Amino acid sequence: TPVIGVLALQGDVREHLIALAAADAVARPVRRPEELAEVDALVIPGGESTTMSKLAVLFGMLEPLRERLASGLPVYGTCAGMIMLADKLLDGREDQETLGGIDMIVRRNAFGRQNESFEAKVDFAGIEGGPVEGVFIRAPWVESVGASAEVLATYDGHTVAVRQGNVLATSFHPELTGDVRVHAYFVDMVRAGL
Ligand code: GLN
Repeated sequence: TPVIGVLALQGDVREHLIALAAADAVARPVRRPEELAEVDALVIPGGESTTMSKLAVLFGMLEPLRERLASGLPVYGTCAGMIMLADKLLDGREDQETLGGIDMIVRRNAFGRQNESFEAKVDFAGIEGGPVEGVFIRAPWVESVGASAEVLATYDGHTVAVRQGNVLATSFHPELTGDVRVHAYFVDMVRAGL
């Protein structure tokens, strides 16, 4: 059984721990480099990406995260987590660091403000059983992807799910729906690489 960490600096950590456990992984919070070293994969939750990036610097996690990503750690980021995985950011804060990992340009807050948050059905390539429920909360979208990244879902003409090798990102929050198919998809990715 894969051990999957949830980056627990900020954001909806608990919801991801529950969804991962429901998708048959062993899930645990990760705050420190020693904890990061012990997991087979990592989820970066939704939350607020500028705060998350500041805390990653404060906790000495930025370089360890970049190193493990570079050495092939499977990672799944939702919303703020997608922003963290972008090689390039639009509408980010000036001092905002991302980890990178997917050759994509992500536009922060692209779907509008908090009160323009919404839910929509999203067809997800590789996931059976009908569309998944997308919860979009001040969500980013993917403006463009490089040749090695694969678009898995779009909504209203905008890319909202991307995979590049072992790294997966969604604009929306499957951890808030009780439907664990996207988490199960990620757990399968992790198992395939173990
Ligand atoms: N807008 C947030 C950010 O920039 C992301 C929102 C979310 O994770 N729900 O980090």
